[in-house]
Amino acid sequence: MKLNEIVLNTNYRELDSHFYTDTKASPLNSPYLISFNSSTAELIELDVSECEHEDFIHFMNGSYMLSGSTPFAMCYTGYQFGHLVPRLGDGRALNLGKTNSWNLQLKGSGSTLYSRGGDGRAVIRSSIREYLISEAMFTLGVPTTRALAIIGSDENVPRARWEKGAIVLRMSSSWVRFGTFEYFFYNHKHELLAPLADYVIKESYPHLEGEVNRYYLMFKEIVSGTAKMIAHWQSLGFNHGVMNTDNMSIACVTIDYGPFAFLDAYDYRNVCNKSDEDGRYAFGNQPDVAHWNLSMLAKALTPILSIEQSEQLLENFEDIFDETYEALMCAKLGLYNKDEKDNKLIQYLLSVLNNRSIDYTAFFRLLSHYHGDRTTLLSMCALPKPLISWLDDYDQRLEKENTQNRHARMLRCNPKYILKNYILQEAIDKAEVGDNSLVNELLYIAQNPYDEHPKFERYAGIAPSKLGNLKLSCSS
Ligand code: AMP
Ligand code: MG
Repeated sequence: MKLNEIVLNTNYRELDSHFYTDTKASPLNSPYLISFNSSTAELIELDVSECEHEDFIHFMNGSYMLSGSTPFAMCYTGYQFGHLVPRLGDGRALNLGKTNSWNLQLKGSGSTLYSRGGDGRAVIRSSIREYLISEAMFTLGVPTTRALAIIGSDENVPRARWEKGAIVLRMSSSWVRFGTFEYFFYNHKHELLAPLADYVIKESYPHLEGEVNRYYLMFKEIVSGTAKMIAHWQSLGFNHGVMNTDNMSIACVTIDYGPFAFLDAYDYRNVCNKSDEDGRYAFGNQPDVAHWNLSMLAKALTPILSIEQSEQLLENFEDIFDETYEALMCAKLGLYNKDEKDNKLIQYLLSVLNNRSIDYTAFFRLLSHYHGDRTTLLSMCALPKPLISWLDDYDQRLEKENTQNRHARMLRCNPKYILKNYILQEAIDKAEVGDNSLVNELLYIAQNPYDEHPKFERYAGIAPSKLGNLKLSCSS
């Protein structure tokens, strides 16, 4: 389809006007294309060649609207680092409308009613990070938003230093957040919670439409989907960094990528967000934080769902998380015939890996090749004894498996390439001086993380010593 043939709908605007504000973009100066993702273009049936069309840049810059598009910013609130902020909302995002069940949103297109003094801009650095990581997460099997393209500009944007403005077009099955419900609860507009829940059901859980106890069933889905999403994060060593309730998706997809990181060494206490001084959003806390966030959502839903009912559903969180996590970890370990001792074996491995400077991703990739010769695996750690005794147990466990295609299967679920922060930073440094080649190459790697890429061998495995465990700030 040509760009001008796409028709968007903005059903969200049929809700009460408290839910959103019609907003116009403030286009960037001298916009230019940094990268275009043909995989996501396919999802909205957009011809790949359209990215070369001048209108595409205008579309990305918010200065050309598709038919049916009346752009708007959504209102929400949220608990930020445990404290309720009365009103947040899309401070720099603009919803264009929906096509093929994808809600298109520009991020960085200027201020809105919800900007709270912010400039409404996003910079090249954060936009590239979000653009690439959402694609990497998707290929790694994690529920996530996607991204269509990214543009840069020569617009100066003040951050810790002057940076250039950019816009990334994000796509999500829903942009409703836990914080959207919280907004109406804490602003005493309880009569708007049911219409919002009905909207969410229609958009994200259509099989529940018309059910008498649909709000109960909706919360059940959200508990389950969130537990599963977090299990994916934990199995991959992904640290989100800002799990405020406004950054939690009602459709249980990973949203709002900010100071995230993939772990280098496995470390429960890893904190990737410089502003998170207390380590609230440390890697190992993520399941508990998700549970807490869900309990805050349950509170916001009390006018339409009794707390007893939601608490009963919340009790399932741990089991769903454990079950999903165990299944994902067993796959990483090449264990396909269920064994009751598998959980113990996993926990034992994690205690061996925890804080022992063994690169988490590289360890599993090496293990995927393991035939009994331990030399390379043991060379990863300074004190090999704990790993030796874990491998003894693992060897025993493998005897119960049909190992025929174990290696091939493990290599399809233990990525060789994971976009660590230092790798993203190299692409950003180049893009900031006008060379977008590495952004595009990393997009390809993000989409093929299990394959060999000889040219980028240096990105596989351990981060260079000074570049490991980089912490990032929220400022973006
Ligand atoms: P985040 O933690 O990045 O998801 O952002 C938290 C809130 O701050 C959201 O309501 C954002 O829209 C808003 N925000 C972040 N950066 C800006 C900015 N530069 N201008 C306006 N609003 C912003
Ligand atoms: Mg956010």
